[in-house]
Amino acid sequence: MNQQLIEQIVGEILGQLGQSPVQLPERAVPIAVSARHVHLQPEHVEVLFGAGYELTQRSELSQPGQFAANETVMIAGPKSSIERVRILGPVRKATQVEVSFTDAMKLGVKPPLRESGNIEGSAPITLIGPKGSVHIDQGLIIAQAHIHMAPTDATRFGVVDGEYVTVEADGVRSISFRNVRIRVNERYRLEMHIDTDEANAGFITQGSIGRLVKPNDAKETVPMQATTETTKSPDPVVRIPETLEFTKKLLSAEDVADISEKEIVVNKGTIVTALARDTARELGKMITSR
Ligand SMILES: [Zn+2]
Repeated sequence: MNQQLIEQIVGEILGQLGQSPVQLPERAVPIAVSARHVHLQPEHVEVLFGAGYELTQRSELSQPGQFAANETVMIAGPKSSIERVRILGPVRKATQVEVSFTDAMKLGVKPPLRESGNIEGSAPITLIGPKGSVHIDQGLIIAQAHIHMAPTDATRFGVVDGEYVTVEADGVRSISFRNVRIRVNERYRLEMHIDTDEANAGFITQGSIGRLVKPNDAKETVPMQATTETTKSPDPVVRIPETLEFTKKLLSAEDVADISEKEIVVNKGTIVTALARDTARELGKMITSR
């Protein structure tokens, strides 16, 4: 995506919101927020969903060829579990689960901060599907912030593949991300990927704009865990879907917290607890009945 196009899109969005257009920062990078998600190897698809099963596409993701599947799984750690974790396709060589630090604390697990694809020696986790469960000894990671870009973008920014940069996001709560890895590929669209904890720390929402800066000390602060790159497989962004059809009899606060969708549609007879309504309000979610 080139600068002119970004400015045009941002201008349109601001126009729709009834705000006056603002000057885009130089070296702007659109930021996308990745929710927790799972990549599966083919054998695990069959264990979790049944022999011969193949993932079905729900929506396309920002990086070409990647999609969010209709299928979800439960992930379980020693302390607790998280339901309805989205699976992203297509299938990969090795199953990989990406969670936030907050998720990890809830689950009672200690995943390392890693680049997607680099799972050697990472944390174990259990995946539970409708037809079976899989325990993996490694594959659970917290994804390291990175920027996808095409070679033309790299030239424009003066960066190379594998380099680490700083990205500043000036919002209500200004924040700067260090050790952000540059990933250059012909197929990539310019976009920075961060997880929900990073986004929440800076009040960053889907489509916020960051500014790429190249600090002189970036190389010295490269974390050890991020220095070995094993694969180039793109890890896509999970766009949080709009609505979830909730079919159980009772909607609890825990359910609300687990559901990633913004709108929860319940049946007429479904009981919604007061705490569930409070939680929905806190999280900015809407509960409607059909
Ligand atoms: Zn990515």
